[in-house]
Amino acid sequence: LFITLEGPDGAGKTTQIKYLEHFFHGQGMAVVCTREPGGTPLAEAIRRLLLEPAYTPIDGRAEILLYAAARAQHVAMRIRPALASGEVVLCDRFIDSTVAYQGYGRRLDIEMVRRVNEWATGGLLPDLTLLIDVPVEVGLARLRQKRDVDRLEGEELEFHRRVRRGYLELWRLEPERIRLIDGRGTPEDVWRRIKGVVEPWLEA
Ligand code: C5P
Ligand code: MG
Repeated sequence: LFITLEGPDGAGKTTQIKYLEHFFHGQGMAVVCTREPGGTPLAEAIRRLLLEPAYTPIDGRAEILLYAAARAQHVAMRIRPALASGEVVLCDRFIDSTVAYQGYGRRLDIEMVRRVNEWATGGLLPDLTLLIDVPVEVGLARLRQKRDVDRLEGEELEFHRRVRRGYLELWRLEPERIRLIDGRGTPEDVWRRIKGVVEPWLEA
C-alpha cells in the first residue's frame, strides 16, 4: 500500500502524515514514513543542494533532474523494497509535486515532466494520493508563523498560485487516485477529513 501526501506549502502534509502513521500502526500494520525530496542518504543530500540558497537560481532542467535523481534513488532503495515486504509506505510529496511545482509553477513542459517522473520511478504510482488544499494565503501564513519566512509578493506569490492551480488540475484529471482534502482549520479538523476518506477507501 503506497499513499502519498500532496499540497502547496503550508498545507499541513508533514503534520497529517504523523496522524496517518499512528492510524496504520493502530491497525497493526508495518509503516514506513518518508519524504521527498529525500528519504535516503543520497536523496537527502540532493535535498540539501536543492534548498541551499547559495545555489540559487537553479536552472529549470537542472532542478527537475535533481528531483528525479533523488526520486529514482528513493524508489529503488527504499520505497520498492518496503512495498515488496508488505509495509505501508507513506510519503510526504511524490511525483505530483514535480508536476505542480516544476510543471505548472516553473512552467516546464508538463508532458516532459511526466516522462521524467515515469522514467525516474520506473512507472511506480501511488495507490492513493491525499491532496491537502489550502488557499495560498493560508498556507504561506502558516509557514511564516513556523519558519520565519518573509512575506511573499509579486512573482513568488504568482508562482504559488500556479502550483495550487496545478494541483487542482491534477485532481480533476485523476479523481480516482487523487482525493481532495480541505486543509483549512485545525490539524484535528483536517485529520477527521482524511480519516473520512482513508477508512472507506481501505474497506473498498
Ligand atoms: O515539502 P517540503 O516543505 O519539505 O518541501 C521543501 C521545499 O521544496 C518547499 O519549499 C517546496 O516548495 C519545494 N519544492 C519544490 N518542488 C518540488 C518539491 C518541493 O519547489 N517538486
Ligand atoms: Mg511539510
